[in-house]
Amino acid sequence: EAKAAGRNTYCFFDPSMQEGALVRMRLESDLRQALARQLLLVYYQPVVDRKGRMSGVEALVRWPRPPGGMVSPAEFIPVAERTGLIVTLGRQVLCMACRQLAVWAGDPRRAHLTISVNVSAREFRHPQFVSQMLSVVEQEGANPRLLKLEITESLLLHDVQDTIAKMAALRSHGLALSLDDFGTGYSSLSYLKKLPFDQLKIDQSFVRGVLVDPHDAAVACTIIQLARSFGLTVVAEGVETEGQREYLMANGCELFQGYLFGRPVPVDQLPES
Ligand code: C2E
Ligand code: MG
Ligand code: MG
Ligand code: MG
Repeated sequence: EAKAAGRNTYCFFDPSMQEGALVRMRLESDLRQALARQLLLVYYQPVVDRKGRMSGVEALVRWPRPPGGMVSPAEFIPVAERTGLIVTLGRQVLCMACRQLAVWAGDPRRAHLTISVNVSAREFRHPQFVSQMLSVVEQEGANPRLLKLEITESLLLHDVQDTIAKMAALRSHGLALSLDDFGTGYSSLSYLKKLPFDQLKIDQSFVRGVLVDPHDAAVACTIIQLARSFGLTVVAEGVETEGQREYLMANGCELFQGYLFGRPVPVDQLPES
């Protein structure tokens, strides 16, 4: 019914479509300005081990856009990817994360913490991605062994040889590579076999259902087994309840992330341990 109504009201000068285009253009130009003024922030979300101790954090970009408050990355990351702004955005986030690692290196309670940074396909495909990444790490004085790059499956299909070469180069410098949102993409298991990952992250859509949907539970357990048989660490993301944590723990999951342990927050609001 809604579909039929939509068809009847469709025309070339649909004012709501035009409005959508304007909103998108405005978002793009505001994002460009925010990047030029370095207004984006990084929030950090704890990743905890089986004993509940914080072993690291994930860096998640935040855009405070007056007067409206924070814009969600789900809204502006796709815009940044489409326009190429993601390369600048990614470099700024990486700089902030590396600077944080350098600060923590001087604090015995924080010096062991890892920071995971999300990398988009478009950044990864950039010919100078590896050299630029390494130069930021060096310039900021960060220990590359405490830096993890989270990448999603979508980029792996593009050019496997190039992907393998870049991953190998990054790993040879001590960085770890994590496969984000595992289980939601299209890549086959053979990619997992070919590509040198250190870590798998179980997508939150499966974690959400572990106690209520037997299929989600089966997928989550299979991913944990898979990770173990490949010698990879496994992180469950989107853990919101004690029941979910217990179930995943009983099935061998090693690391946990989610609102149960803490939301993404400015660095000074991270828990003590
Ligand atoms: P992601 O890398 O899979 O990050 C996890 C997302 O799940 C984050 O959303 C986080 O706030 C949210 N989350 C964590 N725990 C829970 C939970 O218990 N329940 C629920 N409902 N959500 C939880 P966020 O911060 O909105 O980021 C969304 C996505 O945007 C990220 O997904 C990532 O793909 C992308 N993103 C964020 N920061 C960056 C960045 O600096 N660079 C790039 N390229 N992408 C980024
Ligand atoms: Mg991530
Ligand atoms: Mg994820
Ligand atoms: Mg995601």
